[in-house]
Amino acid sequence: MAYSYDTQNIFARILRGEIPNKTVLETPHTLAFHDIYPQAPVHALVIPKGAYVNFDHFAAEASAEEIVDFHRTAAAVCALLGVVEGDGYRAITNAGPHGMQEVPHYHLHIL
Ligand code: AMP
Repeated sequence: MAYSYDTQNIFARILRGEIPNKTVLETPHTLAFHDIYPQAPVHALVIPKGAYVNFDHFAAEASAEEIVDFHRTAAAVCALLGVVEGDGYRAITNAGPHGMQEVPHYHLHIL
């Protein structure tokens, strides 16, 4: 599968520093920030810094280092935002038009 990545998508612009974000955590391969339109008391997005359009692109083509860093960062975000000890949360990702994905850069919602 040849994935096509839009370098002008809003998360690519955030990663280039062209648009501000409310950062929760940043690592060499991953950025986590608060969703601009929160759908829950806690709503953060975790994104890889690499140019991956969605979950299956990331899972298929990212390096082991990127994949580990992404998931460790997501776990740290859950702890930082206080959902680990609570009543639970959702970790979801949308892909493509049928998945209702709006921003074509892979992201995990933590709600
Ligand atoms: P999705 O529908 O899974 O692609 O989700 C895209 C998410 O990105 C939505 O929850 C938006 O509220 C969020 N979003 C869009 N623009 C920004 C932005 N500039 N900063 C933070 N979150 C954003």
